[in-house]
Amino acid sequence: MEYSIIPDEEALSKCAWCQSQINDQMEVLGLGAKLNPDADLSEYESHCIQISLVSEEKPVYMMVTAQGSEARNYGNDGMFLICSERCGKKLKSVLEKEISLGKMFETVRLG
Ligand SMILES: [Zn+2]
Repeated sequence: MEYSIIPDEEALSKCAWCQSQINDQMEVLGLGAKLNPDADLSEYESHCIQISLVSEEKPVYMMVTAQGSEARNYGNDGMFLICSERCGKKLKSVLEKEISLGKMFETVRLG
């Protein structure tokens, strides 16, 4: 599958769910996802990409963690930046649906 790489400044300044602006003053949450072994995103490592979901129209931005990074060591292949707990819960439930519908994700967790 092909993904488009989103510039960091763009992807890291917006909530992955509601697209509202994120700034340094805000307490930003992260949602981590472990990818299905079949979903090979190694060529996108340490980049932000736009992914499309099976159950949602709108695309979301995901960071592909780099090998050896803290997030990766913690078991997260992909990270989503979230502006609020409300968005986090919503995105988490959508991604959990994706686990059964799609082939991309294995587990997701809010943390
Ligand atoms: Zn949000």
